[in-house]
Formats: sequence, C-alpha cells, structure tokens
Amino acid sequence: MKTQDIKKKLFDLGADLCGISSIDRFSGAPSGYHPLDILPTCQSVIVFAVRFVSGTLACKSAVPYTVVRNILSDKMDKMAVQFCIDMEKAGILAVPTRTSGSEWDERTGRSRNIISAKHAAEAAGLGRIGRHSLLITPEFGSMVWLSVILTELELEPDELKESVCTNCNLCVQICPVNALEQDSLDQSACSGYAFGEVNKDWRINCHKCRDICPFNLGTENSIFKRP
Ligand code: SF4
Ligand code: SF4
Repeated sequence: MKTQDIKKKLFDLGADLCGISSIDRFSGAPSGYHPLDILPTCQSVIVFAVRFVSGTLACKSAVPYTVVRNILSDKMDKMAVQFCIDMEKAGILAVPTRTSGSEWDERTGRSRNIISAKHAAEAAGLGRIGRHSLLITPEFGSMVWLSVILTELELEPDELKESVCTNCNLCVQICPVNALEQDSLDQSACSGYAFGEVNKDWRINCHKCRDICPFNLGTENSIFKRP
C-alpha cells in the first residue's frame, strides 16, 4: 500500500491533516516512549489531525473547549482503531496509540503519553512546536487535535516544516503561573492551574498561551481571525 492510499484512508475517516514519519526521526525519544518500545517492528509513524473548534477560544465558559477536547479524543481513538482494522484486513500490521491521556514517568518527573503526539506530528511534517509547547500547523495553527498510529509498513516520510514561532514571548508573559519560563513546560504548574473540577465537572480552565499566539489559527487560515 502506498503513502497516498494510507492518507486517503484517514481522510475518508475524517482526518483533516495526515503526515508520515520514518522511525529514524525518533532518535531523541525518551527511553520507554520510543515507537519501538511500543511496537518493536515499527517502521513508520502515521500522525493524523482533526481540526479543533476555533470558536471555543472566544468563550468565557470553559465548557465548550473541554467538550470539544473530550469528543475529539474519543472520536480520533475510534478513527485510529478503525484504520488499524482496515489495515489488518489488507494484511498490514498497524496499532493505535492513545489520543489523550498520560502516565507518570518517574525517571524524568513528567507525565507522558506512550508516544508524544506533538513530537510525532513534528517528525511527520505536520507543523512545528512553538515556544508555548504546542504544535503549530500552517493550516489550523495550534487548533488541531492529534493521534498517532504505528505500523510496520515502510512508507515515504513527509518533509519537515519550518518553524513559524517568532519567539515573541507573548505566551510566556501571559501564563498566570509562569509555566513557560524555562525551555520546557512546567507541567505541574500548568496542570495545577489549567485543569480542575467545577461542581465535580472536569474542565480545562486555561488556554491563554494558545489564545494569544499570533499563529493560533495558522499561517494559512485567517477565516476565523478576530480583530
Ligand atoms: S495553559 Fe495556561 S497555565 Fe498552562 S502554560 Fe498555558 S497559559 Fe500557562
Ligand atoms: S506566542 Fe510568540 S513565542 Fe509563543 S508560540 Fe506564538 S509566536 Fe512563539
């Protein structure tokens, strides 16, 4: 099966973006979180993205943003599973990872998904990670959700994107808990402030670093840009 056929399958399932990385682009992945730690025969990493509802950035309530995050995570896990079943029917081994969720990595003191979706997306040529620690894609800025699939199929990798982050530091300055002061995100400061329950309802209460970035909606998509 060719790279274009793989991408078409994911677009048919509802993906808005899709990129491919070869396994050699993961040499910097932490031990235990490398694609080969998950699938020892992995040859290629497929990353697909679905656009987030940009209007959620304009809301005062945290509910719309949280609902979109939860629904997209569930939808993309289902898309990934269906894709892997279709691949298996064609005699190709592919496995989903996990769209959202993480585990505690004692050695580095960080929470990690089994594969970092934003790093995989960078390797697959979907965009580049900005100073705010989020992926910025040309088409949808940081308003995309990401999911990662591992396969033992050898596929042609996509070209890497150039970074558009200008290091303007607006994201660093607006963070209420200074979680972006260092080179890597202070996860505990961010999650302690940004995630929490309101009346026993789990919500994402902060995305200020995402809101303020001039590239939050991409370099190509200006339809929803607010003045
Ligand atoms: S989500 Fe909020 S708390 Fe977390 S880094 Fe961004 S601005 Fe800071
Ligand atoms: S707000 Fe500025 S520094 Fe932060 S990610 Fe966007 S362009 Fe980069």
